[in-house]
Parts: sequence; structure tokens; C-alpha cells
Amino acid sequence: MMTPKAPHHSTAWQPAAALQSTSARALRQGWALVAAAVLSACSSTPLPPWTTQPPSAAQPPAAAQARRPVPPPLGTAPRGEAPAAPVTITPIGPNAPEPSAAAPLPYGEAVAARFPDPSVRYETPGLAEGRRAFTTNAELTQWLRDLAAAQHGATRMQMLDLGLSQRGTPIHALVLTRAAGTDAMALEASRRPTVLLIGQQHGDEPAGSEALLVVARELAQGLLEPMLDRINVIIVPRANPDGADAGTRVTASGADMNRDHLLLQTPEAQALARLVRNYRPMAIIDAHEYTVAGRFLEKFHAIQRYDVLLQHATTANLPEFMTKAALEWYRTPMVKALGAESLTQEWYYTISTRPDDLRISMGGTQPDTGRNVNGLKNAVSMLLETRGVGIGRTHIQRRVHSHVTAITSALRSTVERANDLEQVRSYEARDISAQACRGDIVVEAGPTPTQRELVMLDPDTGADRTLRVDWNSSLELVTLKKRPRPCGYWLAGGASEAVERLKLLGLQVMRVAEPGSILADTYQETGRTTAQRQDVRGTVAGSQGIIRVQVTPTRSAIDVPAESYYVPLNQPLANLAVAALEPDTQNSYFANRLIPNLGDTARVMAPPSLVFEDAD
Ligand SMILES: [Zn+2]
Repeated sequence: MMTPKAPHHSTAWQPAAALQSTSARALRQGWALVAAAVLSACSSTPLPPWTTQPPSAAQPPAAAQARRPVPPPLGTAPRGEAPAAPVTITPIGPNAPEPSAAAPLPYGEAVAARFPDPSVRYETPGLAEGRRAFTTNAELTQWLRDLAAAQHGATRMQMLDLGLSQRGTPIHALVLTRAAGTDAMALEASRRPTVLLIGQQHGDEPAGSEALLVVARELAQGLLEPMLDRINVIIVPRANPDGADAGTRVTASGADMNRDHLLLQTPEAQALARLVRNYRPMAIIDAHEYTVAGRFLEKFHAIQRYDVLLQHATTANLPEFMTKAALEWYRTPMVKALGAESLTQEWYYTISTRPDDLRISMGGTQPDTGRNVNGLKNAVSMLLETRGVGIGRTHIQRRVHSHVTAITSALRSTVERANDLEQVRSYEARDISAQACRGDIVVEAGPTPTQRELVMLDPDTGADRTLRVDWNSSLELVTLKKRPRPCGYWLAGGASEAVERLKLLGLQVMRVAEPGSILADTYQETGRTTAQRQDVRGTVAGSQGIIRVQVTPTRSAIDVPAESYYVPLNQPLANLAVAALEPDTQNSYFANRLIPNLGDTARVMAPPSLVFEDAD
């Protein structure tokens, strides 16, 4: 249960406050904007009128919305009324709640004093008083099952089984919706945007998972429930149950699943890909924690200061207006919401594991993380990181509060921007498809090296310390390699494994029914080495060696046999195909041996006149 300690805190829990503050005038203006957008939709490539102000256009059309009161914070009662019965969740058996001796702080009291507990207290199995372990996998499953079984009002809740982890633990999601059903078709038919919330891809980052259990409960039968009139929510509290069980960042095989969202080698990443393909969420929020002391203490003799680090998708070929939406409609209000709770934030940054490398890097630009791959799936994609890795349970209430505050803000943004988001995404889908055969693609991009000031904490006094650091900015990408955008990619029949992965990403792949001829660029090899995949931290954990190949595209007419494949680029996720199929990048399907031979791929440079089998 979340028990407010101070009554003034209720301002943090008014998810629908913005919905109620609409004046009739703003509403009229809003509808005028919608009308204008609809009219312009008749011309070629419409984009909704871009407003940074909270939209009046997105105010709920349903009068029902206005009638729904926002419930007061749990444990309080409206003036003059008896306290409402508290929402209760069936308590879960205490598996490991032996009272622990207070764990030693990872730093002095002076630093700890910078991070007081929030004025609310969150309760989940893993946050219970005296607990040593966070919520176990069994407790987490039970929590979701109990929520789903408690069906509440008009909300439908369904626990989804997304597949098994490498050690055979089920990966669960909870769908919360007021659509006619909980399957992907029903959510689509609801015409409400779906938000996907993901926690604990890294097993040693528990706060996101605990926070998502709180968010699930508050959506199911608590303070966030009114939002379901406008949005659908799917929650995967723990994407890496094996890592959570073992307390490791990686999966059981040693793989970093958050570098596996393009290659899809792990069942854990595959499970998330299938979910995203089927439900097509409009916004995807990925909850992590970051290292507080560790490498920063060694390199700068400093402790990390910020409650939350934030970053949207930053990779090549992203749809421009979804990025704008992430920044203006999601990040800006999120920063404000965190500030209102006296929580601090910065851009996400990390540092190499190499002891001599003092450069600080924002989250990377490779199309391999959930953040970047989900951006290429034309979703608003946001990474949240709280200060948690390496400090055990220290400040856990504050870490959970940070996640809950940021996630609530993202849900609210989706509520307020529901109409705009739908318009922007459909514009981008058409715009990306229309680019096939035209202009350039960026094959490889990198961050911009800059310098800036960053505030850290003195480990002894806890005081702010401003450092001048080398800072690789992912906010502006440097194009390292580009090529003309093909009409599509041809793949040999032997590339069937790659085809399965592309389909799992949501791409349409066609099968050639009869032999034919195409105008294509084939890749002539000019050199090769073997290497390891790298991210801004160092070598990607658990990745196999890759083939680093140099190529020169060479144009000719080539014959293609029946039972080979064609991946057209006139489709909304075309840029994901680019990320996977240009062979001379570290994330490509060729470099990672999903495509056996360089000759198995070609860039198709004119619309092909081939006969295709019916799509399955
Ligand atoms: Zn992480």
C-alpha cells in the first residue's frame, strides 16, 4: 500500500488533473485544430499542427470523462467523508523477510543525507519492512495474477505469458484496458494508444520492477485508473527474470539483452519483440538503474548525483517527428514532474569500463538497445535510469518514487496527446514508406564529441562538485557512412533465419514465387577482420565475435531464383531493415552470422517486377 505521510503530497497523485482543467474556450480551440488537421489530411503529407502547449485538441471527447472523479490518494478521504476502504492486495507469503542487520552504506552519511526518503511509502513484496530480497519471480507472478483476478469496474486485465527465460521462468506481462478485449486486435479497435512499460532488462536494477508493480496496482484499482479511459497499458515488470534471480545484469547465457533488440538472439529479447510487434505500442518506457559509485568513484573520486537520467531514442534514420514528440510531449513534462517532487535529473550518461578512459558518453547511437530499436519501430521510446546499481537497498523508496513519478508523467503525456500521437505516427509511417528508392540512408552514425560541465558529489562531504568532462553527445549525430536508399533488399533462400528475425521485428518480408531479374547493388568485399561488438561501456557482454567487412556496392542486373526473399522499403519499419541488412556495421545480420554469405544480400535499386507468393 502506498501511504501518504503528509497530506500536501496529494498533488503528486492527480493523474487526471489536467483532464479536468479544460475551459470551454480551450476545448473549442482544440476542436478547431482537429478540424484543420482533418482537412489538411486530404492533401499529400499532413502533419498535425505542432503545439508545445498542453493540447486542448486531445481533451476527452467523451462526457463520461468529466464525470469520473479523480480518487484521492490512498488512505485519505474527501473532506467530511469517512475514510474509504483501502485498496487491498492479497498479501503474499513472506518467503525471505528475515530482518536484516542494517546493511552498511556504500558511502558516508553526508552523501546519504542528500537523498531523503519521499513523503510516500510504497509497498510491494520486495519493499516490505525488514525484507532482504527484492520481489521474487514467484511473488511477481502472483502479484500480477491477483491483480488480473480482481477485475475492477470497466477495466479488463489479462496476464500474458510472453515466453520462457533461458532457465525456464515465464516472462509475464499485464494488459490493462477498457477495450472490448485484451488481445491486440481489441486494443487496436479501441482507438486508444497503447503504452508499454518495461522493467528490469538488467537483473541488478530492481527499482524499475518494484515501481511497475506499484503502477500496475494503481492502474488496476487505484489512483491511475481514470487514465484507462484514454489509453491502454501493458506492463512487463521484469524482462530478465534469470538475471533478477541471480542478481546479475546479464541473462543466464551472459548476454546483455538490452543490446539484443535487433539481433534477437535471446528468448528474453524475442519475447519483448513479439509483444511489440503484436500490440504496436505508441510509447515504450524502459526502466533501468545506473551505477552510483564504482567506475565514477575510481575515475573521478566522485559519487553520482542525479535521481533520474533520461534519454529518448538516438540512432540514425529515426522519424524526425517522433523524436520531437519524445522531447516536447514526454521529456519536458517529465522533467517538470520530477522537479515538482524535488527529484533531480540529467541526460542519461555512462562511462567506459576501461580504467584509463575518462570520456563520458550519453546512451549510445547503435541500433541495438530497446531505446533505439523501439524508436525505429516508430514508437516514442524513453529510457529512465535511477541511481541504484551497486548500492543494494539504499534509498530504495526514493528510487521507486523516481520511477513512479517519471512513468506516471509518461502515461499522462500519452493521455493528453492521444490524438496528436496517432496523427504523427501515421504521418511518419506514410513518409518513411514514401522514401523508398529516394534520397540517402545513413549506414552508420556516431555521437558528437563535446565538453560540458557535470555535477557529481564529493564522497566525503556530500557537497556538489562541478567537473569539466569530455562528453560524447548523442543529441547530435555525426554521419559516418551513407548510401543511396534502395527500394528494398533481396535475400537468398538460405537467409531464412534472418527472415524470421526480420518478421519478429514486425517487418514485412515477401517470398519470390518465380525466377526473375532485378537491378541491384551487390556488395563487393574489399577487406575483413573479426572483432567484438562494442557499446559506450566497452565490449558487449555475451556477444559472439563479429565479422567486420568492408564493401563496395556494385550495380548490375542479377537473376533471382524462386524461394528467395524481398524486403520492400516502402513500409513503415523500413529503417529497421536498413539497420539489419547493410552488412558493414557491427549490428548487421551479416556481421553476426545470421546471414551466412555476403552474396546472400543485395540492395534492390529499382522497383522490382517480380512475382511474389501470397504473404502468410
Ligand atoms: Zn540497465
